Amino acid sequence: MNQPLIDQIDAVLPQTQCGKCGYAGCRPYAEAIVEGRADINQCPPGNQTGIVKIAELLNVPPKPLNTAHGFPSPYRVVALIDERLCIGCTFCLKACPVDAIVGAAKQMHTVIAAECTGCELCIAPCPMDCIRLIPATEDVAGTSSLDAAERKQHAADHARIRYQRRQQRLERDKQHAAEKPIKSKPGSAAENTKTITDERKKAMIEAALARAKMIRAQTHTGNPATKPHELS
Ligand code: SF4
Ligand code: SF4
Ligand code: SF4
Repeated sequence: MNQPLIDQIDAVLPQTQCGKCGYAGCRPYAEAIVEGRADINQCPPGNQTGIVKIAELLNVPPKPLNTAHGFPSPYRVVALIDERLCIGCTFCLKACPVDAIVGAAKQMHTVIAAECTGCELCIAPCPMDCIRLIPATEDVAGTSSLDAAERKQHAADHARIRYQRRQQRLERDKQHAAEKPIKSKPGSAAENTKTITDERKKAMIEAALARAKMIRAQTHTGNPATKPHELS
């Protein structure tokens, strides 16, 4: 494989890691382009500017964005969690490719807006449907003095580093888990504890879902006697 060319293409991709191009991330898409498996116009976040840059690197004519892969956003968007509804299941945290979500199991989760790429990957796994995208109100740290193009490039480079760090951490965790396999025999104290924990978790999620349903119903009816923030 032509690694230098892959590096060059990866360097001009937006590093959102959203998968809209049909590949697992920006680098796999760059590899697919170089190997002739993907076209140059499959990245909605990169939009036409990105297509032109890739075309120049490959010395081919640019082409319009293939909107079958989605549409570009006219402005930077970030995810926002409705913290009233969050049940702390950690699904969003596990889905975020750049570690832009903080929170612990069974505790409220929050998006670090300055680190969010707006990739949308946290939205689908949320069982409470409490994550939405909003226009960003702050820039990626250290970019306020840059022009729009420089800001975009800086944000992409920053996201690439965070993505790579996350990949390295996941790899370390995997190795750690492989080195220390925890096995519990059926009927053992550990297995019984796990069953009880699973049942509690299930009950907690069911209770939270019921509570969220109630909050939504009350929000929609606008009942002033039962505003969401007054619920315990
Ligand atoms: S930002 Fe573009 S290249 Fe990267 S994963 Fe998303 S669609 Fe693919
Ligand atoms: S918080 Fe959500 S939208 Fe933002 S980068 Fe993480 S997964 Fe993507
Ligand atoms: S997926 Fe939804 S409910 Fe679960 S922790 Fe994230 S925001 Fe909260």
